[in-house]
Amino acid sequence: MKYDFSHFKEGLSKLNISYSDVKLEEKFSIFYDMLIERNKVMNLTAITEFDEVIEKHFLDSIALGSFIDLTRPCKLIDLGTGAGFPGIPLKILFPQLDIVLVDSLNKRVKFLEEVILTLQLEKISAIHGRAEELAKKVEFREQFDYCVSRAVANLSTLCEYCLPFVKLGGKFCAYKSKDVENEVENAKKAIYLLGGMLSNVHKFQLPDTDYERAFVVIEKREKTAKKYPRKAGMPGKEPLL
Ligand code: SAH
Repeated sequence: MKYDFSHFKEGLSKLNISYSDVKLEEKFSIFYDMLIERNKVMNLTAITEFDEVIEKHFLDSIALGSFIDLTRPCKLIDLGTGAGFPGIPLKILFPQLDIVLVDSLNKRVKFLEEVILTLQLEKISAIHGRAEELAKKVEFREQFDYCVSRAVANLSTLCEYCLPFVKLGGKFCAYKSKDVENEVENAKKAIYLLGGMLSNVHKFQLPDTDYERAFVVIEKREKTAKKYPRKAGMPGKEPLL
């Protein structure tokens, strides 16, 4: 094997995540190579060194599996996936997930389509669009067990992007970092208005780093009113505070 995965495996075991796919390392190697190659001609990641990508992109993406049971078949949407985080690593680790990757930048979506084909991933698609528009479509609205999102917007804005996709009883899981208490405080109204209820804030440290990370888990308790999300740009410009 071209790369040393011992660090990755230790990380997984520290996160208490087990895996069975014998091709796991091969898949992550190919994804890493594609990421670095394409990053030369378009903006996909600021981090490029192998071990750092392992920690801050791959393990960070997968860490959700420590707190949420992702081993059963369910539908998940990754909003603002960028270069495929957290969606692609989650798909590799938890292959029975049915995943939709969404991004508003078509070049990134094209890259993800190539990744999906090359890795021969099934039950996963990449869609070009904005949350504000896709969430109005019947095939997406309130169709998912989970909506996940990392590094896309503040929590209040993110609730308006994400909660409309989640079915009743499903969960929106936001990947956040240090200042999570403040974000949660500022998102209280948005959570309520969009039919959510704060279920948990899981704080943890990324294995072998001093990175403080957090998952904000919001359960969908009531249907989201039709007027949300507001028109494109509004959730970002005027968050529901
Ligand atoms: N989740 C990735 C990328 C974060 S960058 C990661 O953690 O590395 C934020 C991404 O969200 C960008 O690719 C941007 O195009 C996308 N994005 C921002 N606003 C969006 C919206 N309203 N709908 C869909 N995608 C959006």
